[in-house]
Amino acid sequence: MSNLRDSAPHAASNFPVDRRTRDFLIIGGGIIGLSIALELLLRGTTVTIVSRNFPQAAAHAAAGMLAPQAEQLPPGAMQEFSYFSRSLYADWTAKIEQISGLPTGYWECGILAPVYQVPPEAARGKDWLDAQEIQQKQSGLNPAVAGGWWYPSDGQVDNRLLVQALRSAVLTLGGEILEGEEVKCLKFQGEKLGGMHTSNYFLESDRYILATGAWSQELLPVPIYPKKGQMLAVQVASELSSSLSPNTPELPLQQVLYGEETYIVPRQDGRIIIGATSENVGFRGDNTPQGVLQLLQAAIKLYPDIQNFALVEQWWGFRPATADELPILGASPYSNLALAVGHYRNGILLAPATGYLMANFLLHSPREGQHQQQTPAYFSAFDWRRFAETT
Ligand SMILES: Cc1cc2nc3c(=O)[nH]c(=O)nc-3n(C[C@H](O)[C@H](O)[C@H](O)COP(=O)(O)OP(=O)(O)OC[C@H]3O[C@@H](n4cnc5c(N)ncnc54)[C@H](O)[C@@H]3O)c2cc1C
Repeated sequence: MSNLRDSAPHAASNFPVDRRTRDFLIIGGGIIGLSIALELLLRGTTVTIVSRNFPQAAAHAAAGMLAPQAEQLPPGAMQEFSYFSRSLYADWTAKIEQISGLPTGYWECGILAPVYQVPPEAARGKDWLDAQEIQQKQSGLNPAVAGGWWYPSDGQVDNRLLVQALRSAVLTLGGEILEGEEVKCLKFQGEKLGGMHTSNYFLESDRYILATGAWSQELLPVPIYPKKGQMLAVQVASELSSSLSPNTPELPLQQVLYGEETYIVPRQDGRIIIGATSENVGFRGDNTPQGVLQLLQAAIKLYPDIQNFALVEQWWGFRPATADELPILGASPYSNLALAVGHYRNGILLAPATGYLMANFLLHSPREGQHQQQTPAYFSAFDWRRFAETT
């Protein structure tokens, strides 16, 4: 990353130059680009998003868990950031639903984390349930489950519904989305980004934000790499699902199961999401027999009834990973380009806080001498310069 400035690509083009006035151009229309756009629009600015391929976004592939506790995110910046984001979720999704008129599937269902061996720290944990308590909390678990942790404040959102609603809210608020338009390269002029070549245009703006997820290295040498995750979904037996309504007590699973080898995420319509593999295979797509076998074995072991449900879908996606598993947020080496990449396995959870803090950074940065206090100290832990010496 130390040579981030030197290796930025340059290219010439005869495409039409688009000089319309806009405050911000966001590259990438996944959940992070959309969340920043929403917040910037709510604060009265004008925004264009350049989106190569909306369905490609990891936001569609995710499980939608909002799980800072179950994920055991490390104390410090990441934990504070993720707890802050979780605390924003109820109001944030309500606002998106109100603006878009679409549901998001936000569900404060809690997360149960069963284990097969009692860990030493269990005796000290106020969230710990022993073998009997956990079977009472969730019937149908493998009898070999020795206990587990109950995190009532963790939850889930239906990430596919959420990104559709979020996109609709951005459009409703006057945001522009150039769908199917790919940014081919960034054109730098000294210390600034002067514009960008896309499939059909040369686009210009005062300020730019890079939110290109796992594909970020295609435009800038940021240390982001893809971590593939395979997923699948089953549907509870039709004689059960025909009588289901939201929050129905008939749902066999009433909370997320965050197991040691798998997670199982019940949606309110009877669909159950099972994830996920974690693979370093670059951008090699597809579901593999090995991946599907691994997911099914672990899920059936934890919650045996799964073996009787209908297998309805399988898919995969690419998490945008960094070496230290923290995102890269805020400044870049270029004065008018901001970075919002590398949310790895918690980008759905972190979306509201990312939108909020990135808007603070963009509109009230210390450089402009305004409202520095609105950005918490931990935000600096996500600065790209932490990689400058090592990459
Ligand atoms: C299998 C799986 C399970 C997950 N489960 C969870 C979970 O339970 N909870 C959670 O919080 N997170 C989860 N995540 C992580 C989460 O999905 C990601 O962290 C998040 O989606 C990242 O958002 P993003 O906007 O940075 O990237 P993306 O959502 O991937 O969006 C990036 C977008 O940028 C576009 N783009 C890229 N390059 C260009 C270009 N040159 N020009 C124009 N557009 C471009 C892409 O087409 C894409 O649409 C999961 C991820 C995976 C893969």
